[in-house]
Amino acid sequence: MIANYHTHTYRCGHAEGNEREYAEQAEKAGLRTLGFSDHTPYDFYDIGPRSQPMRMSLEEFPGYMDSLRALEEEYRGRLEIIPGVEVEYYPKYFPRLLEILRSGGVRYMLLGQHFLGNEVEDRYCGIPCPEAGELERYVSQSIEALETGLFTYFAHPDLFRFTGEEAAYDREMTRLCRAARDTGTPLEINLLGLREGRHYPDLRFWRIAAREGCRAVLGCDAHQPRWVTDPGSEEKAEKIAADLGLELLREVPLRSL
Ligand SMILES: [Zn+2]
Ligand SMILES: [Zn+2]
Repeated sequence: MIANYHTHTYRCGHAEGNEREYAEQAEKAGLRTLGFSDHTPYDFYDIGPRSQPMRMSLEEFPGYMDSLRALEEEYRGRLEIIPGVEVEYYPKYFPRLLEILRSGGVRYMLLGQHFLGNEVEDRYCGIPCPEAGELERYVSQSIEALETGLFTYFAHPDLFRFTGEEAAYDREMTRLCRAARDTGTPLEINLLGLREGRHYPDLRFWRIAAREGCRAVLGCDAHQPRWVTDPGSEEKAEKIAADLGLELLREVPLRSL
């Protein structure tokens, strides 16, 4: 890997290490580009300030951006540091979020649709679910996000853990993959999932993505500095892509907000 755009920090509450430790490790490992994509703060202005303990608070956000900008300067010419965030698309709260991220100077967003509806009133996407209607909701919400044209790539698009009819999975994920292709949005093969043997990357999904002509990118989803690169999982992901005839991008063009 020469670029990893999927990196967390201690601020999200379930990762270890500060920005500098990730940058040091990335330089050592020979990366050219290190994008930070910690879980975005979110302003649920009418239903409570922060409902999931998986993201930084709005108060922590300026500190996150300040420290990344300082690091960007310090590493200039050696390692390109890019301040970004991983974002769920919640239609009602997204416009206000965009204002916050834009005024903070965020350079890119990854789509990471961890929750249906929104995380306060609805549910997590990664639990086993046999209902086609729920998968359809995940896909429709994700397509709406892709169609904003604002997301640099879609992280772990196969997070939804569907246990129902294969025909429904194929139908819905085909819809999702076509939207990714038509909006030119790369799909991420998530190396954290590979590393930990999670239910994603889901081969059913990647067969569809290859068939539909989607482009893929590798993301380390580092929650510890040592995982800003992961050659072992990278090799496995490359084999999946090669076996399926999936185009793998080494770098992706950033989409500004
Ligand atoms: Zn994620
Ligand atoms: Zn992540």
